[in-house]
Amino acid sequence: MNLLRHFLFISILFVSTLNLFPRNISVNILGEYKITKFALNPLAGNYSIYKDGNKLIDLETFSPVKFAINENYIDVITKEKSFRIEGEINLLATGFRKYFEIEFEIAPNNKQIRVYDDFIKILPINSSLQLINIVNIEKYVAGVVEAESGINAELEYYKVQAIICRTYSISFLNKHLKDGYQVCDRVHCQVYKGRCNNSNILQATIGTSGQVIVDNNNNLIDALFHSNCGGETVHSESAWSDYIPYLRAVKDSFCLSERNSKWEKKIPKEDFFKYLKTKYLVDDPFIDSLIPFYQENRKIFLNDSLKILLKDIRNDYKLKSTFFEIKNSSNDSLTFTGKGYGHGVGLCQEGAMVMAKKGYTYKNIIEFYYLNIQIVNFEELLNKSK
Ligand SMILES: [Zn+2]
Ligand SMILES: [Zn+2]
Repeated sequence: MNLLRHFLFISILFVSTLNLFPRNISVNILGEYKITKFALNPLAGNYSIYKDGNKLIDLETFSPVKFAINENYIDVITKEKSFRIEGEINLLATGFRKYFEIEFEIAPNNKQIRVYDDFIKILPINSSLQLINIVNIEKYVAGVVEAESGINAELEYYKVQAIICRTYSISFLNKHLKDGYQVCDRVHCQVYKGRCNNSNILQATIGTSGQVIVDNNNNLIDALFHSNCGGETVHSESAWSDYIPYLRAVKDSFCLSERNSKWEKKIPKEDFFKYLKTKYLVDDPFIDSLIPFYQENRKIFLNDSLKILLKDIRNDYKLKSTFFEIKNSSNDSLTFTGKGYGHGVGLCQEGAMVMAKKGYTYKNIIEFYYLNIQIVNFEELLNKSK
C-alpha cells in the first residue's frame, strides 16, 4: 500500500498548497523544448494570474498573453500592460470547461500550438520556463489515450486503454516528486499532448471514470501491453526476470489476421553464424543443426542447452518479436519468419481491438489478457488504505 499512501500524501500536498481538487495531476509539459517565451490564449473559462495566492490580473478569453524568461523573472505582456514577476506564477480558472492554447517555438520560425485543460504553473528554471499543467486526472487520461492509441478504434477498446492509462497514471504519481511535479509528458511516463478532442475517447474515459486494475493484494498492476502477440502472449519471466502472477501467457486467436501479425526478414547466413559463434561460442559442426528452427508454441531459447535466448536475438537484430522461425532461403541467406510485434507480455492491442469489434466488453478484454485481477475504483482503494 506504499504507493497509495504516497498518492494520498501528494494529493493532500497539492490540495493544501494550490487549493485545487484532489483529483488533479501535475504534468510537466513541453520540457524537451527548453521554452524561453510563449503565448497563452484562454479559449474557455475565466482565467486569472496568481502570485503566492494573490490575484494579479484577470485574463480575457481569446486575448493572448505573452510570457518570457528574464533570469529569475517572468515578463508578462497582456494587451493592456506589461509587468515582471519574480519566481513562479499560477494561471487558475473557474468552471468545469476551462482550457487554453499555447503557442511556442520548437526552432526559429517553427511554431507549434497545443491546447491544454485546466491550470498551468509557470516557473523560471535554468534559463527557461518550466510549464506544469495541473489538470483533472480524467481529462489527462483522455489526453494520453488520444496520444497513445490513435483515433479510429471502438468505444470498448478506448475504455480498456483508459483503464490501463489511469492505472499507470496513479502508479506514476511519485515518479517526478523530486522535480516538483508528478509526471512528464513523454514516453518516460506517458505521452500527453494536451486536451483530448475525440468524443469516443472522452466517452470511454468518463464511462470508466476512476477505474483501475489491481492484483489479488489490491496493488495496482503493471498493465503492460504490446502491439500484437502473434497468437500467444508471453509469461513475464520469459521476457524479463520477474514472475508476475497476472502476466501469464494466454492463447490469442483474435489478433491473427491483423496488421502486425506477421513479419519476415532476411539475414545473411555468414553474419548470423558469426554472431552465434562470437556471442555463444557455438562450434562449427553444431551450428548447422540449429537451422531450420521452428516454434509452433512460443519458445524461450533458440537452443536449450546453449541457452541462446530468443529475446537477445530479437534485440541484437532488431526483430519485431521473439516468435519467429528460421529457414535456409538460399546458400548464403536465412529467412526469419515471425509472428506478432512487441515484447508479447500483457495485453495484445490488436487482439483487444478485434475483441471490441466482436462485442466483448472492456471487462471481458481486460480479464482475458490479465489474470487474477480486479477492476476497482481507485478512490475506494484510497479510502480502504486510510
Ligand atoms: Zn516522466
Ligand atoms: Zn494477440
